Amino acid sequence: MNNKGFFYYEIKQGDTIYKLTKEFETSVDRIICANPNINIYNLKIGNKIIIPVGNIVDNSEYYNSEKIKNDLNNLLIIYPFLEIKSIGKSELGKEIYCIKIGNGNKKIFYNGSFHANELITTNILMQYIEQYSRAFVENKKIYNYNAKELFYDTSLYIIPLVNPDGVDLVTGSLLDVDSAYQNAKNIADNFPNIPFPQGWKANINGVDLNLQFPAEWEKAKEIKYAQGFDKPAPRDFVGYGPLTAKESKAIYEFTLKHNFSLVISYHTQGQVIYWDFQNINPPNGKQIGERFSEVSGYKFADVPYNSSFAGYKDWFILKYNKPGYTIEAGLGNNPIPIEQFYKIYEENIGILTLGLVL
Ligand SMILES: [Zn+2]
Repeated sequence: MNNKGFFYYEIKQGDTIYKLTKEFETSVDRIICANPNINIYNLKIGNKIIIPVGNIVDNSEYYNSEKIKNDLNNLLIIYPFLEIKSIGKSELGKEIYCIKIGNGNKKIFYNGSFHANELITTNILMQYIEQYSRAFVENKKIYNYNAKELFYDTSLYIIPLVNPDGVDLVTGSLLDVDSAYQNAKNIADNFPNIPFPQGWKANINGVDLNLQFPAEWEKAKEIKYAQGFDKPAPRDFVGYGPLTAKESKAIYEFTLKHNFSLVISYHTQGQVIYWDFQNINPPNGKQIGERFSEVSGYKFADVPYNSSFAGYKDWFILKYNKPGYTIEAGLGNNPIPIEQFYKIYEENIGILTLGLVL
């Protein structure tokens, strides 16, 4: 079996836990965590154990719907305290996964890749899941905060890939012989100025998932129709009604089931943090957003009028009057090259951690 991040090992004569950690450059804590049913201080010849090594998340490439499934399965093997489940399916029947870390009372929600060609945001969230999990197991800090304390104080829910079908289209994982690809191509042919598939932000049916929420949706419709997005499109089509796209509906219903204190939607690009909805300034929304701005170097700004309706964070603020953010990570043309991953991640590690604390 060829998994990144761990392998199976059969205990031989003379093996001890310390010998194995040294030989394979791992730690006792990691081995204990990955093998909850084995007494690693009393290993018997022939015992099969899991040895975690290195990392599972690989940021030299983008995610697609298949790769995220594999990596989540593997993360669960070495970090069995994670809770991973599907909150629903995409239009093409792909699972939309949610990962829960921690068991505190305060609930926080991060999501990424609402927009297909902003898929580097999935890497950001997957990397954070792994870094946080490992810091928890090894009793270390993450961005100056003790991971164990974060874990017991908060419950972090992460949906790293809201739009699996769109991301499969942008990455070329959806083959051009597939009828869904052909449908998308036909939609894109009506918008020849938008490169295909790199310019694709929508779900596979040409609906912009972040223009689907009941927060003055009619106003978003008026603006986007006037801009020419009055039918399915690679971006900016609001749909024929709010919450008509399966993926947006799934996120909406998932949110209703939890009592989140704070949400962050990750997008690219612009290095800017959006925090308000019309005249609603949720308590602490401004202060927390300004801290996010300080630790990331990103601008703290009001949303431009034409993009200020029917988004997920708009609806969250309107519905709950609690802090909700859209973070436009990175700088450049979408899709932002994966080579920029580590720079962008460094910019955001403070936000990701302070989101749990503030
Ligand atoms: Zn976006």
